[in-house]
Amino acid sequence: MRPALLNPLFASVSTLPGVGPKTGKLFDRLLDRSTGARLIDLLFHIPHSSIDRRNRPKIADAPRGEIVTLEVRVVEHRAPPPRGRVPYRVLVEDDTGDVQLVFFLANHAWIEKMLPLGERRWISGKLELWDGHLQMVHPDRVLDEEGLAKLPPVEPVYWLTEGLYQRNVQKAAEAALARLPALPEWHEPKSLSLRGLPSFADALLSVHHPTNPKSLDPASPARLRLALDELLASQLALIMMRAKFRTLSGRISTGDGRISQKIESALPFTLTNSQKEALHEIRADLGSDKRMLRLLQGDVGSGKTLVALLAMASVVEAGHQAAMMAPTEILARQHYERMKPMCEDAGLRMGLMTGRDKVGERNRTLAALAAGEIDILVGTHAIFQESVIFKDLALAVVDEQHRFGVHQRLALGEKGAAVDVLVMTATPIPRTLVLTYFGDMDVSTLREKPAGRKPIETRALPLERIDEVIFGLQRAIAQGAQAYWVCPLVEENEELDVAAAQERYELLRQFFGDAVGLVHGQMKGRDKDAAMEAFQNQQTKILVATTVIEVGVDVPNASIMVIEHAERFGLAQLHQLRGRVGRGAAKSSCLLLYKAPLGEVAKARINIMRESEDGFRIAEEDLKLRGEGEVLGTRQSGMPGFRLASLDVHGQLLSVARDEAQQIMAADPDLTSEHGKALRILLHLFEREEAVKLLRAG
Ligand code: ADP
Ligand code: MG
Repeated sequence: MRPALLNPLFASVSTLPGVGPKTGKLFDRLLDRSTGARLIDLLFHIPHSSIDRRNRPKIADAPRGEIVTLEVRVVEHRAPPPRGRVPYRVLVEDDTGDVQLVFFLANHAWIEKMLPLGERRWISGKLELWDGHLQMVHPDRVLDEEGLAKLPPVEPVYWLTEGLYQRNVQKAAEAALARLPALPEWHEPKSLSLRGLPSFADALLSVHHPTNPKSLDPASPARLRLALDELLASQLALIMMRAKFRTLSGRISTGDGRISQKIESALPFTLTNSQKEALHEIRADLGSDKRMLRLLQGDVGSGKTLVALLAMASVVEAGHQAAMMAPTEILARQHYERMKPMCEDAGLRMGLMTGRDKVGERNRTLAALAAGEIDILVGTHAIFQESVIFKDLALAVVDEQHRFGVHQRLALGEKGAAVDVLVMTATPIPRTLVLTYFGDMDVSTLREKPAGRKPIETRALPLERIDEVIFGLQRAIAQGAQAYWVCPLVEENEELDVAAAQERYELLRQFFGDAVGLVHGQMKGRDKDAAMEAFQNQQTKILVATTVIEVGVDVPNASIMVIEHAERFGLAQLHQLRGRVGRGAAKSSCLLLYKAPLGEVAKARINIMRESEDGFRIAEEDLKLRGEGEVLGTRQSGMPGFRLASLDVHGQLLSVARDEAQQIMAADPDLTSEHGKALRILLHLFEREEAVKLLRAG
């Protein structure tokens, strides 16, 4: 239950004066709350900048292109002829120069009233030079002396949505601030004063009601305070969940090695040291009575899937079942196909379950699963459905974690009596992000790549040179090579993506005929499989694709990766895509086709790609260039799941928040002290429901 104290903040914005049902809907859209925006959402909608109305130069000194407030005398009105298209102009001056105020489609009476001839006025707005004259089009403010006295010196500027104006949001935020209840301090007073940060309420006040544009700087004390609060809430929630997870008893699954040894000895290669180490760590977890929650991270192609398979084999040796979940149909199927021969030879029984299974097929799988006739189930998120019941699930492997939410991860954990969870991610996640999103999850890292991998030659070319690329492909394919051709990502519009891929496919067919295949996200599942299969068994030589091939697909003979409009992809994505080649014996190359001219960030990304193949370095650079969203594979800007904190500016606060959270949990794990109670309020304020659920009444 949310403490009553917070209720005013969770009231609908439509309870604010001046916000009717219509404006209310606009706020829902602005604040991205389809279920109804609340005051707290509005207060967490921080202005992106501000206008400094204190900038009051003389006309002669006023900087062009900036917002200024000028003290002027009204000299002349030039009303347009009736029904004319020309604007209404008013000439104003001070003793250093003059400015034309320009009003389109103006209400003449209003202008005459606001700007009486000969009177002194203050006008505020953007000053521009037009045709040799200084002008201000539609000044933001036209004030007399009395109005000037009321002019806020610094005005917040918010992101808007169509139909809402700055003054709507300003007024609503002002009214919301007035309803902010007195809240207890949830930080140790010592730690705060040390850093000189304001209280939560003062911080909100100073961003929505800035007295200085500096308050909106992401590194201002007010912004730091808000970010720290959000990070503290999230770290506390993570630590609580982790602690809870630890108290869940686990099961001891110690395999005797009979199956995994068979698999290992059938491999045409030996495990890398990293793989051995990771397996050792995982098996130790499986063999202990604590629940495992481990992240297995390693660059593309570092051999995570094999580690997971061997871990699953151990669990089966101990008499239990294991499941592996992949983010896409293609991947689930690929995992299944590639593991199946190894498993069958070793006596493991496998099952596959995706959203595409026919009813009969699905029922058979369900029955076999419940009867324990399937040892390892591979599938998409379809394996989460309630109707899916395992006989004895002991290990859940989640591939490519960042595509799944925390809820799904936990849901899989609930499928068995005491399920150990192994999360695999192909995107090397920088330490700060691991902490932010996974808390103190245990981590195994595959740093080495399997021996014999050749470096991938990466080149960048402008799109105009596509002819050369096609010519080069002709030669390479004549020598037996295969290539991926990845098509541009057009905004977030899948249909446009597909159209672009289709068009490229048709162009390439003119050169290569039937040797070209196509796969994209809107194709039927069976067609996708057919296209992948044709490429896998070398019927087709070039596979044109949208980013569906991004994650995990493995065709060792493919040695060329062409990425069209590389400037539109994030670094992490480029790296993932490039990781599709360089897996076989042949020397591989990656061609980044870009549209010139390149922007700064795109140029930097492409340079990093040319310089490095080290996924960890690329992830760190990515974090610097684009912020954390990209690293986690989400396209939105900002930090997924966070509203006030942004890792590139507030990253250093993360360890502060962690330390604080750890100290609290050590001293008062049930949050029942005064300090603990304040923290309960914090968890509610930031809606850390998963942690709130764990709280006992107190
Ligand atoms: P990841 O899932 O980490 O991207 P995979 O498990 O798909 O990587 O492995 C990529 C390829 O490398 C597969 O073809 C796999 O058989 C092969 N591979 C895995 N481990 C080794 C190893 N130790 N030595 C050589 N090849 C390996
Ligand atoms: Mg993989």
